[in-house]
Amino acid sequence: MNDSIDWDGAAREATELLAEYLRIDTSNPPGNEAIAVDFLARILAKEGVAFEVAESAPGRSNLIARLGPTERVVTLLNHTDVVPVERQYWDMDPFGGEVRDGFLYGRGTLDMKSMGIIELMTLVLLKRQRVPLRRGLAFLAAADEEAGSDFGVSWLAEHRPDWLTSDLVINEGAYGLSQKDGAGYVFQVAVSEKSPVWVELTVTGRPGHGSVPHPDNCAEHLVRALTRVANWNQELRMTPLMRAHLDAMTKAGFAPAMDDTGALRAAGRAPGLRARLGNSISLTTVETGIKVNVIPAVARATLDCRLLPDVRPEAFLAELKAVIDDDRVSVRVLNRLYEGAGSPFDGEFVRVVREVITELVEGAHLAPELTTGFTDSRIYRLRGVPAYGFMPCLVDPEDLAGIHGHNERISLENLRLGMQVLYEVVRRLCA
Ligand SMILES: [Zn+2]
Repeated sequence: MNDSIDWDGAAREATELLAEYLRIDTSNPPGNEAIAVDFLARILAKEGVAFEVAESAPGRSNLIARLGPTERVVTLLNHTDVVPVERQYWDMDPFGGEVRDGFLYGRGTLDMKSMGIIELMTLVLLKRQRVPLRRGLAFLAAADEEAGSDFGVSWLAEHRPDWLTSDLVINEGAYGLSQKDGAGYVFQVAVSEKSPVWVELTVTGRPGHGSVPHPDNCAEHLVRALTRVANWNQELRMTPLMRAHLDAMTKAGFAPAMDDTGALRAAGRAPGLRARLGNSISLTTVETGIKVNVIPAVARATLDCRLLPDVRPEAFLAELKAVIDDDRVSVRVLNRLYEGAGSPFDGEFVRVVREVITELVEGAHLAPELTTGFTDSRIYRLRGVPAYGFMPCLVDPEDLAGIHGHNERISLENLRLGMQVLYEVVRRLCA
């Protein structure tokens, strides 16, 4: 471990930068990531780090900063946008950057402006320390992750493919966890994620007077279709990744030992586990009708389906249509479909992470993980670039509710730890 860094000073600096970053409202929609990019650019310019900005649409910018050679690049990836807030449920200003009792509060403290600052500080500290690099290091701050990346990494893949040239990507996707009394610590590395299939079901029918029922009622067609979908049993199965995850969590003291049968049974009571052992379908919106005595003309619903990485979206859609079994229900796909892909849980990155966490946090464990949501890592994995979800902080599992929720926060201690871990991982990979 490099002791010439004043970690207290670096932690104070990171706290101030993060507080300032949180005050920049990049709620997406509309995003306004250009303001965040201006903020990051100011810091990089002051530190003398070369960077480039690419505007994907008015007000929507992406930034890449580089250090060292251009070969075998390690990319520190982060997104600058955040999901919107419901202010009435917050106990403080979600864009105030306020510190209370050792925690920094605000939208983006976990997802993922803190990681952005941790990555930025890693780059800045390596530059200040004049660490000679044998491989390239890139810091990529992308727009629009929360709305599907059309103005962020997907846009870059098309218009600035050189920005995505990389040997290894470190991104969001999995958090480290700590038990309340310090009884256990586990860092997680996400190697794969579920793929989304978002569909809209629409039925049009014959409107009419509610007093004269007829069989062409669109709302009734839709309800019957949704009932069939709700009763469609999604088979749960143990995958090698989830087997390794559960074994590691047991070793870390986070889960009782479970064989496959036990885990599949436990999934019935644990939605988070269930989501990682099978495809899932959430009914998310239903819309129809204008008045109690009018048979409506159109009825709509949306389903948020998430597939295990080895399931083909087209095959799933064909099955969904067969289950609905009603020509009157049209099924429209709302997102870009893609196959799942993964990165290996071995090799240099995982070895270095294991070394560093063992040295820095006594008794810390490492677990591979499957992300239930999707991240920009998918775009790299599909191009054959290993990408890992690794937020190197030890979060209280209760605080995970703040992600896309209310009173989102990170402890100052975690910000410091995350910075120390990532700095050391990147130094060992690149120096
Ligand atoms: Zn995120």
